Amino acid sequence: MIINSKYSKSFVSDLLSDSKHDELYSFAKLINNHKNAVSLEVNSNLSFYMDMSFFDFLKHMRDKYRGVINSNFDKQLYQDVFTCYQNKFDSIQRKVAFEKITFKGFEFFKRDSKKNKKGDLKKITLSKEKTRLSVVLTYLARYGNENTIDFINSQINKENLDKDKLNLYNNILYCVSKFGFTRLYGLALQKRNRILDYYSAYPVKFKALTFRGRSRLTQDIISYNENFNSVINSFINVSWLGRGNKMAIPVKYSKEYHGQMKEYHKETPDVEYMVVFHKDKVKINICKDGERYYPDSKTNYIGIDVNVKHNLFTLSDGISFDYNRVLLNELTAELSRIDELKNRKEYEIGKKKQRQIDSIRNKIRKSNEQLCSVMCKYLNSIGKNHIVMEDLDNSFGKSYIKDKANNDVNFNRVVKELNLSSLKQMVEHIGRKYDICVSTVHASYTSKMCPICGCIEDENRPSQESFKCINCGHENNADINAAINIKNRVSSTVLRKNLLKQTKIGNETYEPKILKREKVKEILLSLRYNSPKVSRDIIQINTFEYV
Ligand SMILES: [Zn+2]
Repeated sequence: MIINSKYSKSFVSDLLSDSKHDELYSFAKLINNHKNAVSLEVNSNLSFYMDMSFFDFLKHMRDKYRGVINSNFDKQLYQDVFTCYQNKFDSIQRKVAFEKITFKGFEFFKRDSKKNKKGDLKKITLSKEKTRLSVVLTYLARYGNENTIDFINSQINKENLDKDKLNLYNNILYCVSKFGFTRLYGLALQKRNRILDYYSAYPVKFKALTFRGRSRLTQDIISYNENFNSVINSFINVSWLGRGNKMAIPVKYSKEYHGQMKEYHKETPDVEYMVVFHKDKVKINICKDGERYYPDSKTNYIGIDVNVKHNLFTLSDGISFDYNRVLLNELTAELSRIDELKNRKEYEIGKKKQRQIDSIRNKIRKSNEQLCSVMCKYLNSIGKNHIVMEDLDNSFGKSYIKDKANNDVNFNRVVKELNLSSLKQMVEHIGRKYDICVSTVHASYTSKMCPICGCIEDENRPSQESFKCINCGHENNADINAAINIKNRVSSTVLRKNLLKQTKIGNETYEPKILKREKVKEILLSLRYNSPKVSRDIIQINTFEYV
């Protein structure tokens, strides 16, 4: 399927006259100051702004700060502040929830390990559950006020009230008659105020000097300089205050990077742009329209475990693909030599050395791209068309570095240089050419879970290389085992429904829901398979060496 998408492109403006530069700069300052003022206002009245829609928020702020910021610029500014506080409001609403906490028992180690013996205390387990009373307290803490009961009484007899709401309201009336409104509301309010107090100690602070605006000029947003003798080759034209209501900002246009100029031009020239002051540079970002091809989703899934120690990609069918270790070693050796020189004396990398390092990095990137292509060709040949891999964005590299077993400098460098968090984009980008789409799943518990019986224990991994289930005895290579777990999170309908959501592309590809680690575990364990399956896939290990 073809999706219309927007590409944002950045233009550097280093030929600005002093007066234009100062005008833009002081305007960016003004916007930034106002953003911080609005942020303080919202922060000191969190409960007032908490349930406001953006429409009401915008109207309220425009009335409150009439004339402070020109209307070509204020909507974007209020949008930025609003968006930042939504995250805060979401966490407040989560934190005010009441739950009944019960002591469940102790958990013990089931196997000897380096630090612990079998039978040592591992942790105390608690269960959190919702009760009729906790649901009422949560409701009062989130939405309650003096008139809540009147409000509920006025709603409860309405004809088209949905069933869940009716149950909730009846439950509230029941608990209130039992415990008294004042007492329950008092408890709820106490918790709400405690949490609001905590959050109001940290107002959101906007630091970056940037502003967004809309240009509604009748002329194109960007045009070539008609004076061919000038060093300036083009101008971005924006609505402005003063200067006849427009400003022409000189920028460098490069066809190679920016593409055809006509792609930025619109029939109705109402274009959003963003001005960014970074160090001593001024950049302007504008969007152009484009198209992107996404393969339609198919259901021949393959799981891929990404791993730096053994093989970069291990597939759930047992095949693996490795990165070019010779190049990586060359790079890390070079970087170590530079470190050593730096330790001994004041040393700065010369231009020639820097070029040499950049060139190795370039080769590594190219060889990784080639590796992805080889892998996709292989997948085509065996009829697989939907890759499932872990979500690598969330500090994946860091968790490797923190791992105490890996305190080897070179290894940490390799992790960093391979840039794991960009691997997903690379696989997705190259997969598209082969009609293969990509879904991602939570990284939690993929290496510790048994795909046969569903048991999740640290002790299932007796070593880095191997997996052996302490419950059913299932054994496999650890990376292949992880790849199988990764694949199952999408291929099992129940796991997919509970753990994942559809990506915005809309082609039946999936990404993780935002869930806490414990919640992921709870979902995985609730589906624990009771009887070990009889047929176990026998998987051979084959490795494609990099050539
Ligand atoms: Zn098992």
